[in-house]
Order: sequence, then structure tokens, then C-alpha cells
Amino acid sequence: MRVRPAWPPPPTWLSGASTSLSSEAGGQVGASIAKWGHVRVFSPWRYNIDAAARRLLNGAGWQAPDDDWLPTGAEIIEDYLAPLAKVLGDRVRVNARVSAITRLGFDRVRTNGRQDVPFLIRLENGEELYAWAIIDASGTYTTPNVLGASGLPAHGEADVAALIDHALPDVPGRIALFSVADKAAAPLAAVALAQAVGYGWVIGAVASACAIAAFGLLAYHRL
Ligand SMILES: Cc1cc2nc3c(=O)[nH]c(=O)nc-3n(C[C@H](O)[C@H](O)[C@H](O)COP(=O)(O)OP(=O)(O)OC[C@H]3O[C@@H](n4cnc5c(N)ncnc54)[C@H](O)[C@@H]3O)c2cc1C
Repeated sequence: MRVRPAWPPPPTWLSGASTSLSSEAGGQVGASIAKWGHVRVFSPWRYNIDAAARRLLNGAGWQAPDDDWLPTGAEIIEDYLAPLAKVLGDRVRVNARVSAITRLGFDRVRTNGRQDVPFLIRLENGEELYAWAIIDASGTYTTPNVLGASGLPAHGEADVAALIDHALPDVPGRIALFSVADKAAAPLAAVALAQAVGYGWVIGAVASACAIAAFGLLAYHRL
């Protein structure tokens, strides 16, 4: 039988059997999913929504997405995780990275009775919380494999770390950025050429059309 220790008194958010807290390191719920928000998943909505979460959301007047739709990461956040976080209120904390988890009052040389004391959770900001159960859902997205074989970094990998994208960069978005930049530069080059060869008004008009298209693309890609 588990006995709650008299000291320290569990914080109020742990006093009820159903009380729980979600601690998210990122600045928003689904912070890792947001990094691949441009990718569509292969499981339709019906497999992505937890039954208990659905009950909570339904009680809050949520509009359930189409069960058969394959959402993008961004849609998972917008249509599911963000509304769920709103329902859960202050039980969801963002910018709250867990830096360590241990058993209260126990270190590596003590074992007997570990199961009878709560977990002690230390956040990066120094705050300490207590819990009787923990689900580590920190994922793997922020701790990718190294590039080298045998689980070791490739020689020199650390030196170019800033240039390596480990997982699912938004390549089309980046290509669009370059193509927009190219298109934005093209009118300027065209005007310069026009002035040089004396067809200013014709090429100037073409250049203006290019500029409008470039800004249209820019707005479309929200860059
Ligand atoms: C492109 C893509 C498509 C996918 N499609 C599918 C699919 O169709 N069907 C399917 O079933 N699965 C799919 N998956 C897998 C699925 O997304 C993952 O299995 C799932 O997101 C894992 O959930 P998680 O909560 O464990 O981790 P994550 O979703 O990675 O979330 C971990 C969270 O923990 C936070 N965190 C990390 N460290 C700490 C810390 N120390 N303290 C506090 N917070 C921390 C991170 O900021 C992050 O928000 C897909 C994955 C990817 C990348």
C-alpha cells in the first residue's frame, strides 16, 4: 500500500486524485509538432483524437474535424491541441521545461521505500513540483540521431551543427523564399537593363508586373 508522507505536504494541484499538469518546454502546445506543421500525417483524425479529450472538447462546444481527413501538423495544433489546452486551462503550462525527475528524498544510494514517496520534478526555472505518477511524452523530435554511423557523430559534425536540419525542414517553404527573393531582384535588374538599352517604359512595365507577382507570392507564403 502506498502511504503519502507527511512532509512535504503535496501541493494543492496534486491533492485531488484526478488533478494533473502538463508541462511543455516550448512556447506553445504541440511545440515539436509545430516544427513539422507543414507536413500532412498518414492517420486520419479518427485515430488522432483521444476519447477523454474528445469528451472534454465536446463539452466546450468544439467543432470536431472530419474523421476521415488527414490533418497537417499545423491543423492538429489549431483544431485539436490548442482548443484542448484552452479547456484544460492552467493545467497546461508552456515555457516549462522539465530538467530533472527524481524521488523525493532519495538519491542513488537509497532504495528501500522509493515507491512510497512522490516524484520530485524540477523545472528549468528552478521551480519544483510533486507528482504520484508521471508520463514522459517528451518525444524524440528534439533529440534526433546523429549523422554518423554506430550512433556516433560523424567527424566534424559538431562543427557544422548549425547547418544541419535533422528532421523535416520546410523545404518547399524555403524554396519559395528563394524564388520570391529571385523574383523581387528580377525587376530591379530589368529596370537597370531597360535604362541601359533605352526601352525604359516597356521593360519598366514588365518589371512592375514581376514586382507585383513577387509581392503576391510573398504574401501567399506569409514570408
Ligand atoms: C511528419 C510526421 C508525421 C507523423 N504522422 C503520424 C501519423 O500519421 N500517425 C501517427 O500515429 N503518428 C504520426 N507521427 C508520429 C507522432 O507525431 C509522434 O509519435 C507523436 O507526436 C509523439 O508524441 P509525443 O507527445 O511523445 O512527442 P512530441 O509530439 O514530439 O511532443 C513532445 C513535446 O514535449 C516537449 N518537451 C521535450 N522535452 C521536454 C522537457 N524536458 N520538458 C517539457 N517538455 C518537453 C516538446 O517541446 C514537445 O512539444 C508523425 C510524426 C511526424 C514527425
